[in-house]
Amino acid sequence: MFNSLSDRLNSTFDKLRGKGRLTEDDINAAMREIRMALLEADVNYRVVKGFVAECKEKCMTAEVLDSLTPAQNVVRIVLDQLTKLLGTTESRLTLAQNRTPNVVMLVGLQGSGKTTAASKLAYLLKKQGHSPLLAACDVHRPAAADQLETLGGEIGVPVFRGDGKDAVAVAKGGIQDAVDRLCDIVIVDTAGRLQVDEEMMQEAVDIKNVVKPDQILMVVDAMTGQDIVNVVTEFANRVDFDGVIMSKLDGDARGGGALSVREVTGKPIKYVSMGEKPDSLEVFHPDRMAKRILGMGDVYGIIEQAQQAADQQNIESAERMLREGFTMDDMLEQMQQVRKMGGLKKMIGMLPGGDRMLAQAGGNMDDSQITRIESMIYSMTKEERLKPKKINGQRRKRIARGSGRSVQEVNQLLKQWGEMNKMMGKMRQMANEGASSKKAR
Ligand code: GDP
Repeated sequence: MFNSLSDRLNSTFDKLRGKGRLTEDDINAAMREIRMALLEADVNYRVVKGFVAECKEKCMTAEVLDSLTPAQNVVRIVLDQLTKLLGTTESRLTLAQNRTPNVVMLVGLQGSGKTTAASKLAYLLKKQGHSPLLAACDVHRPAAADQLETLGGEIGVPVFRGDGKDAVAVAKGGIQDAVDRLCDIVIVDTAGRLQVDEEMMQEAVDIKNVVKPDQILMVVDAMTGQDIVNVVTEFANRVDFDGVIMSKLDGDARGGGALSVREVTGKPIKYVSMGEKPDSLEVFHPDRMAKRILGMGDVYGIIEQAQQAADQQNIESAERMLREGFTMDDMLEQMQQVRKMGGLKKMIGMLPGGDRMLAQAGGNMDDSQITRIESMIYSMTKEERLKPKKINGQRRKRIARGSGRSVQEVNQLLKQWGEMNKMMGKMRQMANEGASSKKAR
C-alpha cells in the first residue's frame, strides 16, 4: 500500500536536497510532482487540488525553521498537510455511557470486508474488556451468517442469527439476546450489494431507525480508488455514519481512497484493517500513517505491538537473559514474539524506509525465515540450546540433517546467535556498571 506514492514523493524531495535556497520555481516544480504522484495514486482530483494549493501556500509563507534545510522544511510542511488530510488526530469509537448494550452498526458494499471487520472489532473490544455480541443481519448473502458464526466461534464471541430472514427483526433480537447474556456491545453486520442500491439503503435505514445505533461505521475497501467518493457520499446522504473502517490496507492498492475519504465526507477513519486474521484491526493514527507514506516509519506502532505481545513472562526472561546470557531457547522465544507481533513483514514495514525494503526484497522477506530458524533450534538437544558454544562440526551436521537444512544454514544461525550473545554481554556489562555506580553514590 502507498508504495509507489511513497517512492514518487521521496524522489521529489530528493531533488530538493542539497539546495541552499529554494526559489519559487523549485517549489512550483515540486508541487507539480506531488500533484502528479497523488493523482496517480488515484486520490480524488478535488482533494489533490486543495492539498497542493495548501502545501504551496505554506511553503511560500510558513515560518522556515532554521534548524532544518530547505528540503526538510518542505518535507515537514507536506507531512503536516498529509496528517491533516488523514484527519490530524485519532478518532476512537464513541460509546454511550448510559446505555447497555451499546449498538455499533456496520454498513458498506458487499465484499468491502464488513463481516470480517465485525468480528475483528468484536475481538478488539473483547481485548479491551468488553463483552460483545455479533448480530448477523446480512440476511441476503447466503453464507454471511455462517461466516460470522465461524468467525465468532474463533474469537469466543456469541453470534445471534434469529430467523435469518428479516434483518430488522434479527437486529432487534440481537439486542435482546445481548441483554439476556449480559453483553455490553452489539455489533450489527448488515447486508451490502455490489453497488449502491435503493433496497439496500432502505434496509440499512430501517435497521438504524429501530436499533438506534450509538455508532455507525462504514467499511470501505482501500482498493477502491476514485469511485469511493460516490459510494461514501451516497451512504453519508442516506444512512449517514460516524466514521470509517478502512479495510484491506495490507494490499497493494495505490491508496487514493484512503487519502480522499476524510476530506470528501468529513468523517474520520477510525480503524484500519491490515489482513484477514482476527487481530488485524487497528486504531487509525493519521500522523503515523502520514509518516509511513513519507517513509519515516511507524516507531510507535512497533512499540505498541511489542507492548501488546509483552507479558510478565517476557519481562522475567529478559531479566534472566541479562543475568545468565542468551541461549538458543531465548532465540526461539524471540522468533515466536515476532510472530505474535504480526510477523516479520509487518515489523519491517513499520521501520523507516521499511516498505521500500520489502518491495526490494520481493517475496523473500516472509515468515518462512522464522520457520527455518525454528526448525534448526528444534533439532538441537536441550544442552546444545543452553550452551550453543558446544555445537561442534559433528553436531552441526546432525542438526542440519534433523532439520532438513544445510550445514551452512546451521553455521549462519550459530553466528547470529554469537552476535546476539555478544550484544547481550555488553548490555549486561552496562547494567552492572549502572548498578555499581548507583551503589557508589
Ligand atoms: P462483506 O461482504 O463486506 O461482509 O465482506 P467480507 O467480510 O466477507 O470480506 C470479503 C473478503 O475480503 C474476504 O475474503 C475477507 O477475508 C477479505 N478481507 C477483509 N478484510 C481484509 C483485509 O483487511 N485484508 C485482506 N487482505 N483481506 C481482507
